[in-house]
Amino acid sequence: MQYAISGKTRFGGLLGSPVAHSLSPAMHNASFQKLGIDCVYLAFDVTQDRLEQTVRVLRELNVFGFNLTMPCKKTVIGMLDGLSTAARLIGAVNTVVNQDGKLIGHNTDGIGYVESIRENGIEIEGSEITLLGAGGAAAAAAVQMALDGARKIHIANRRSRSWEEAGRLVDTINRETQCRADLTDLSDSDALAERIAASSLLTNATSVGMAPGVDETPIRDLSVFHPGLTVSDVIYNPRETRLMRDAREQGCRAYNGMYMLLYQGAAAFRLWTGREMPVEYIREQFFS
Ligand code: NDP
Repeated sequence: MQYAISGKTRFGGLLGSPVAHSLSPAMHNASFQKLGIDCVYLAFDVTQDRLEQTVRVLRELNVFGFNLTMPCKKTVIGMLDGLSTAARLIGAVNTVVNQDGKLIGHNTDGIGYVESIRENGIEIEGSEITLLGAGGAAAAAAVQMALDGARKIHIANRRSRSWEEAGRLVDTINRETQCRADLTDLSDSDALAERIAASSLLTNATSVGMAPGVDETPIRDLSVFHPGLTVSDVIYNPRETRLMRDAREQGCRAYNGMYMLLYQGAAAFRLWTGREMPVEYIREQFFS
């Protein structure tokens, strides 16, 4: 189909650096075309120091909204007119919606994660979960699972860069949601094994196992993989991480993070257009 830019075409896009590799322009433009929506989505290479002036210009040009990649996800907060509950609790924004001139920040990364695991029949409500990591992906997944009714989330992180952030994440979940959260040192193997034994879902939201470090795994003790456990890795390169392979060999179901990317985009698309992204079509075009 020919793409027709008219005098009324609205635009939005992705801000961050680097952005050239991103799948988001292809995903959103194909969806606009498929549904006949007169919008285009572009990628803008914007460094943090140019974010404020860029957001000012986008506001003036009446964009429908935009996405942000790290490190702009945190910096943008002070430039917006409001935040969704998830964005406020996570402390990061990946999607901005222009609501009648007001720029409202959302975070759809966690929604993307939860929708991708629900698709595999995993229920969050009332469940006990062990989550490895406390960076951006982990915070988004933890907050969304807590908002969606998880009963307990055990966060395990190494005592390093994000240890204090992990503590703040646990406090935020305990203060602002009905879910109970606690923090364990990833190297405390007994405490970790105890928490995984009580969990139905083990989520890896660390970067351990991501290419090129494909032989690495955050879990070395294979005895923690019990029959009632599903393992979910936010990593999608490689498609099967060592953690997933080990879990499957011990009889657990295991899934990668490929569709988290699709569903965070679908959630942003819904916020901008009020329409459902044609996810089956997008999956066939870009995710097979
Ligand atoms: P961050 O850098 O924000 O967080 C990384 C986390 O992994 C931190 O908790 C970090 O701990 C931990 N970590 C890193 N190296 C080690 C290690 N050797 N041992 C133990 N813990 C470690 O990254 P993101 O949260 O943005 O990304 C994490 C992963 O999620 C990446 O692989 C990324 O590709 C993937 N991702 C997938 C998405 C999807 O759509 N499927 C979306 C976003 C991310 P510390 O701070 O102490 O270093």
